Amino acid sequence: MTTNVQRVRLEDQKTVDEVRLQDGGDKKPSWIRVRAPVSQAYHDTRKLIKDLKLNTVCEEAACPNIGECWAKKHATVMILGSVCTRACAFCNIKTGRPDQLDPHEPEQVGRAAQQLGLAHIVITSVDRDDLDDGGADHFKRVIESIKAQAPNTTIEILTPDFRGKKGALDIILQSAPDVFNHNLETIPRLYPSVRPGARYFNSLQLLAQAKQKNPTLFTKSGLMVGLGETRQELYQVMDDLRSADVDFLTIGQYLRPTPSHHPVVRYIPPEEFKDYEKMAWGKGFQMVSCSALTRSSYHAGEDFQKLKESRRRTAP
Ligand code: SF4
Repeated sequence: MTTNVQRVRLEDQKTVDEVRLQDGGDKKPSWIRVRAPVSQAYHDTRKLIKDLKLNTVCEEAACPNIGECWAKKHATVMILGSVCTRACAFCNIKTGRPDQLDPHEPEQVGRAAQQLGLAHIVITSVDRDDLDDGGADHFKRVIESIKAQAPNTTIEILTPDFRGKKGALDIILQSAPDVFNHNLETIPRLYPSVRPGARYFNSLQLLAQAKQKNPTLFTKSGLMVGLGETRQELYQVMDDLRSADVDFLTIGQYLRPTPSHHPVVRYIPPEEFKDYEKMAWGKGFQMVSCSALTRSSYHAGEDFQKLKESRRRTAP
């Protein structure tokens, strides 16, 4: 697991050709730098997460932003256990027979939101294809618990695709989260190798249906780049997301968690991220976050405020 945190040097314009990948651990370009987290606030967040026996995607996915986020008491809680029923080629989360559902988890997550004094919380989960509702009811109970224990905390959920789980979306939407996020992750051509258990149009449809069922809901989706996509393919996905009325797009560099995961085909230089960002704004997203270290939950609270402001400004 990467235990370091980034120092981004956007002024460095090293090109992709100068970046040499090393076997058994990619040598990262100079605009992605990592440094060990040291702050007291980071350790306080870590202790609280541990005491409440919660899983976080920050740790499980070896996120490079952990030092910065946890120092600001921002963590993404991962519910429904720590073992996933899918085996995506980019993801570091363990695949296998999933854990029994922890009936105390909703209570504990609510307590974490309350004790951390969070303005905004992001809840995600492993895939639970083994459960009849894909874990939707558990999501609902977690949201209800946060609302009861930390009523001022806004709630963002980053859900699995609930493929083949009829009614799962309705169950979740009953609990009225503030932001519904589902990551497309990559372009459709790469689904068989990157996200083999998922289907691109199923994911797109989930996002479209969430907005259709509740037009006031904020919807969000994220993409990783550097997996072998072309610009045109990426821009097509942006169009697809806009046609599903998605409000907020995040785009970040894919980083390989271990040598056995999908290789990094390309490190996207900062100036190219700027092009992507410009294109995304041009396509009409209300909020765009686009940089090498962007993750779907990175700066999620601040960005949610900006998203609300943008909708307020542009509302008829
Ligand atoms: S970007 Fe998201 S997953 Fe990464 S450390 Fe921050 S909150 Fe956790």
